[in-house]
Amino acid sequence: MNEILKMKVKELKTKICSDEIKSEDAVKACFEHIRKAEPKVKAFLKLNEDHSLKQAEEVDNKLKSGAKCGLLEGVPIGIKDNIMVKGESMTSASKYLENYVSPYDATVIEKLKDAGAIFVGRTNMDEFAMGGSTETSAYQKTANPWDIERIPGGSSGGSAAAVASGMVPFALGSDTGGSIRQPAGFCGIVGYKPSYGLISRYGACALASSFDQIGTFAKDVTDAALLTSVIAGKDYRDPVCEPNEWIDYTNDIDNPDILKTLKIGVPKQLFDYKIDSEIAKYFNDAVNKIKLEGAEVVEIDVPAYKYVPALYKVIMCAEVSANIATFDGIRYGYRSPNGINLNDEYAKSRAESLGYEVKKRILFGTYVLGAKNYHRCYHQAQKVRTLLINQIIDAYKKCDFIFSPATLQMPVKFGEILPEECDIFLIAANLAGLPGITVPCSFTSTGMPMGVHFMGARFSDAKLFKVARSFEKISGFDTSKYPVL
Ligand code: GLN
Repeated sequence: MNEILKMKVKELKTKICSDEIKSEDAVKACFEHIRKAEPKVKAFLKLNEDHSLKQAEEVDNKLKSGAKCGLLEGVPIGIKDNIMVKGESMTSASKYLENYVSPYDATVIEKLKDAGAIFVGRTNMDEFAMGGSTETSAYQKTANPWDIERIPGGSSGGSAAAVASGMVPFALGSDTGGSIRQPAGFCGIVGYKPSYGLISRYGACALASSFDQIGTFAKDVTDAALLTSVIAGKDYRDPVCEPNEWIDYTNDIDNPDILKTLKIGVPKQLFDYKIDSEIAKYFNDAVNKIKLEGAEVVEIDVPAYKYVPALYKVIMCAEVSANIATFDGIRYGYRSPNGINLNDEYAKSRAESLGYEVKKRILFGTYVLGAKNYHRCYHQAQKVRTLLINQIIDAYKKCDFIFSPATLQMPVKFGEILPEECDIFLIAANLAGLPGITVPCSFTSTGMPMGVHFMGARFSDAKLFKVARSFEKISGFDTSKYPVL
């Protein structure tokens, strides 16, 4: 693998800006590696080689003429295929949007363009981000680069696999119920979901609007923090985006003393579930390492964790059924040639283009919102969501961050199914609007990576990066290692 691809993003950007490395060479290195790895991994739905090279050439010329260097000047990035880039297709891995061309840039894309990033391609995902394996994509299955017979996780499995295999130094994903942090754990990289409202969702294809957030994938915490610094911040076009001032999330990220000052909470409920024995062992080791660094580890009690799978399903599907209603075959996207009247046209356009998982969620969401079920299902779930949030707020009176394995199981082979409680510690962060980050922890005996997860209080994102970085330094996980493909 070309040395350029192994560089940390900040180093690469600095070298591009000082003309030690041409952006064009960085992009060429990416595509060279993609040509080798992609036939096995299938992380991308679309690659923009010509356009990326042109962009890179523009960056190099611009820099030669003395222009100011952006935060990600000339650095290649992968974008999940549910985020709009003006003039480019965005399929959300659905047949419904097969020929859809984005009419505008998502806010995060505008910010990346301003920072000088180069868009290498669009990464595969579960259809409309519904899934945890990337197998519901209407186009292709992405493989876990550490074992190509296994899933990379999902729904942002393409972004995770692209970064883990070294095809791009970082990537964007979206996380509604763990879709960044779960595949990051399965692929041995860092995956971060911000506090709800920290990063604009404008221009991202909605799944469940009260959970959705765009977030970052990188090989290590500092790169994930750098990318976050570029894309976070207020946006009047997303009404839930908080008017925070710009923050450099890499600032003081290497603070050596942070763990000494913190209480880390481990949920008592963790061992109520079936947990892979190696995950349990390595997590235990991780807790001991944190203690050795001086952190106080305390047990916390959040009994409502047990409701997380049901809560998530009811509220997420309800929001899905409302959001996907805009896909009617009339306004944009796939239109069936077989409709005989308007209602038939709606029905056939959806029936012929949406996948099984999407249809199932629309049906269930419509059911829980129906007049007879609204109170006993949807409304009840919202009440229990508040209960969960209150219990987590109480837990933060005893600790600063909540620590758990990222997932309770290891990635399965294609076609096998993960238990629904596998990601509950990740999904809790979406239900409560909290920031969470997965950091690689160890390789298990099968040679697959496993990750741990830190969850912070709302808008503690800057401190969360510092904690994650401190753990990264003591984890013993070698972030410079790449799978052999
Ligand atoms: N596994 C979750 C689901 O299928 C993840 C969704 C997400 O975060 N986009 O709903």
